[in-house]
Amino acid sequence: MFDLIKQLTEAWAPSGYEHHLRATLREMVKPYADEVSVDGLGNLIVRVGKGGKKVLIAAHMDEIGVMANYAEPKTGYLRFAPIGGLLYTTLHGSRVMFEDGTIGVMANQDPWGKGRTAASDTDTFYIDTEDETGAQRVRVGSPAVFWRETQQRGSRVIGKAMDDRIGCVVALETLKRLAGKADHELYFVFTVQEEVGLRGARVAAQGIKPDLAIALDVTAAGDEIKAERLAVRLGEGAAIKVMDIGHVVPPDLLHWMIDTAEKHGIPYQSEVLARGTTDAAALQLAHSGVPTGCISIPTRFVHTTSETVDLADVNACIDLLTQLVRSPLKLKKKAKI
Ligand SMILES: [Zn+2]
Repeated sequence: MFDLIKQLTEAWAPSGYEHHLRATLREMVKPYADEVSVDGLGNLIVRVGKGGKKVLIAAHMDEIGVMANYAEPKTGYLRFAPIGGLLYTTLHGSRVMFEDGTIGVMANQDPWGKGRTAASDTDTFYIDTEDETGAQRVRVGSPAVFWRETQQRGSRVIGKAMDDRIGCVVALETLKRLAGKADHELYFVFTVQEEVGLRGARVAAQGIKPDLAIALDVTAAGDEIKAERLAVRLGEGAAIKVMDIGHVVPPDLLHWMIDTAEKHGIPYQSEVLARGTTDAAALQLAHSGVPTGCISIPTRFVHTTSETVDLADVNACIDLLTQLVRSPLKLKKKAKI
């Protein structure tokens, strides 16, 4: 599985520019799908099975990055706008990659002064893209992702864009396990533009009209030093979301997820996240409301180029999703008054 994680995390796909990764995933899902399509916003939709419950499973393809928005005169330096939630303490010395492969180095303009302890906004940073002639290699309007190779340390895998390529891996591996067979109508959706406001998930749920939805995404691990009070730890299983700032999981759906994990001996932990949310927050609001749950992959150092996951947790998430889609929650019929 490491090779697949490496291939997907090293792919280039800032929000709104998911086309290369979408083409890769499209090829990968073909042998396991009944139907593959792309909607108007760019979501890749993979259907398996027909009839029964309509279940939407979402993992986002996009990653955080930057977009060049101003070229400083007579230098090879660019200013930029953020794509998604950047952590300023991680930026100085970071490498970014533009679509044509050009590498830029991000720098703080006062690294030994104010920038040493605090950087108030992206205006205090710039990107060096100068070549040997002193010319800029990149035009204003070009997007870039943070670049870092993906590596392994025992069962831990460290890389950029684990958020949310690891969710894409869970979706893909579950598809493979189903081997084209499902008693229900499953829609695996690889969504676009999550990091800039859950936009892909919003239209996917409107188009598919699911009876039930499950998002797959990373969650912060509470085992970093001085972390917030978070019960989630690396290596202790799939995190079943209970609540985050955009989403309260309906209790009957939550219990179905927990009961399924217990019935099949799948290690799990409960996640209550005080910051951040996922595609689930948008999926639940489609039409007259969609019961929505979320399986989270515990991840250290979220939104850095060294997001760290444990393969045992990834496997637990695949096991759990496989069991859940095999027997979707029996939804209560709407009461007639
Ligand atoms: Zn994410």
